[in-house]
Amino acid sequence: MHPRNRYRNVPDFIALAESYEPLRPYVTDSRIDFKDAEAQRRLTEAIMFRDFGITLHIPLNRLCPPIPNRLNYVLWIQDIVHAHSSVLKSHPQAVRGIDIGTGASAIYPFLICKTEPGWKMVATEIDEESHSFAQKNISGNDMQSQITLSKASASGRILFPLEDNVRFEFSMCNPPFYGSAQEVADLAKEKELPPNAICTGADIEMIYPDGGEAGFVGRMVEESEQFLTQCKWYTSMLGKMSSVLAIIELLRKRTITNYAITEFVQGQTRRWAVAWSFSDTHLPDSIARISSIPPSHALYPVLPPRNTLTQPFPGCMPARLYEALAETLRTIEADGVLATEVAPRAGSHHPSFFIEAQANTWSRSARRSRRPRAEMQLQPDSHTGNTVASAGKTNPSLTCSARVIIQETDAGSPTAATSTCSVEFQWIYGKERALFESFVSHVNRKIAPKLK
Ligand code: SAH
Repeated sequence: MHPRNRYRNVPDFIALAESYEPLRPYVTDSRIDFKDAEAQRRLTEAIMFRDFGITLHIPLNRLCPPIPNRLNYVLWIQDIVHAHSSVLKSHPQAVRGIDIGTGASAIYPFLICKTEPGWKMVATEIDEESHSFAQKNISGNDMQSQITLSKASASGRILFPLEDNVRFEFSMCNPPFYGSAQEVADLAKEKELPPNAICTGADIEMIYPDGGEAGFVGRMVEESEQFLTQCKWYTSMLGKMSSVLAIIELLRKRTITNYAITEFVQGQTRRWAVAWSFSDTHLPDSIARISSIPPSHALYPVLPPRNTLTQPFPGCMPARLYEALAETLRTIEADGVLATEVAPRAGSHHPSFFIEAQANTWSRSARRSRRPRAEMQLQPDSHTGNTVASAGKTNPSLTCSARVIIQETDAGSPTAATSTCSVEFQWIYGKERALFESFVSHVNRKIAPKLK
């Protein structure tokens, strides 16, 4: 589960039923019968009522969203949108998101808008009945100013809200899972169905005849190529690992290299989500890669390249390493790279550095072939809002951050546990990965002799 998911522990159903009367008949001996479709609905409604202030009505013939699982995806979306807020010193304003196939409960828009009151959502739905329920749930909770519902059509684009020329920060989707009714029956036999899927989902919710979830998300990938950065992060849930592999293969084939994969584990169930972007903004590995999977795992080879690079300096004290890093950055600064200190993040003693560079001025070949540089001026950068040194109005070619971190390394026995000081570089913005990597290795090379 996501570390910020407040439903990591099984809720106290008795307490929950006390705040939501309709749940009471379904709580026996502090338990709920999860096979009972009515009980599932009252539970989801109770959580939405008590914890999010939403009065929800979920019809019996449509999917009932389990909140802990839906919240995982919402928290990951928040991670993506806020990824660089602490170093950029700005929180994204007026964030707009799209939820594709919102369902009768409009669950994602509700969870998003209640946890991020400044955000706005456009929700789409193709099924008449789910659409009509979603509309009633939205207006019944007076959320029309934050959530707009749009009817999708089978002949139109899945990502049709992007046709209106409005910019969105993200799109999200929990796609129809199956390719056919036969697949539903086969998986039911093998008991590989996602929890509570089969019992109540209507065909339109569950089945996408052109290849199930991989087909649906694949179509979104193709459509996203027409809209490019009009939506910064396209994302989707996926229920099968084979779909994750298929989507990443498709992204790579289309040279969409800026992508992320995450995994949500809840009890026996595993789900994944993918994100891709045509922007030059890069996500930290903690968001874009699954840290827990070993190199032997099927997903390991398709994880995106690392955007967080860590150089350990064993035996070095944090204060010393920080000084060496600061001094190194000061000398490069004279060379057209601007490094500014940012107040320490929670859990860290030393400031981070926010670094912007117009071009590679640090490599030997760059220094040898140096031509007289254009006049440097300080001006606000349109991308980050920060002040950058630049010769002209272009965005910096490289934006990254660097900070000293202390990593606990456990060498197997509790007595051998030690900590190592490292410099962690985070790629934030830029087209060229090679530029980021060259900067990192240059700084690391300059730090080492200063520690002798
Ligand atoms: N978001 C909800 C429902 C997911 S089920 C939840 O997580 O609980 C998938 C939903 O996508 C269904 O409601 C289905 O009707 C809808 N859907 C299927 N094809 C669609 C399309 N082309 N455009 C919009 N919605 C679609």
